Amino acid sequence: MLQIIKSLSILCIVSLLVATICNHFFALSFQGVFILCAVVQLALGWFFNTYIQYKSTSQWTQQQTELITQLEQEATMAPCAYCGTENLIPVSPTQDNDFECVNCGEHNAVYVNITVAQKTVPLDVEPYSVSNHNTSLGNQSSTKQADKE
Ligand SMILES: [Zn+2]
Repeated sequence: MLQIIKSLSILCIVSLLVATICNHFFALSFQGVFILCAVVQLALGWFFNTYIQYKSTSQWTQQQTELITQLEQEATMAPCAYCGTENLIPVSPTQDNDFECVNCGEHNAVYVNITVAQKTVPLDVEPYSVSNHNTSLGNQSSTKQADKE
């Protein structure tokens, strides 16, 4: 309420000032200039407000998109240590990755384990192909089981 009164006061003061100056120096109608100035200020205020709203909305959307993209790149599914429910958690190497389970609400600590392995290079040879299907191995084991029984 106070904000509306303040805005209307500023609008009236500016309109009064412009109308007085135009009336005094250019002999224009005081009421006409006052109304015109008030309407122009209202229109400019509406455009400015709409622009700020649009800008903040698009900025918020962009931030959300960046956050989701970052989350998709750095997040992983991990089971809760208490109830075993899978949780989507962000994993960062620079900070604690503790999380609260979405199912039971318990706090879980996350330990990141780094494993190293040798890189392998595929050989440039023909892939193996099966030329003989020897099914006697499977039959031998089944016959041994039959002998025990
Ligand atoms: Zn849980």
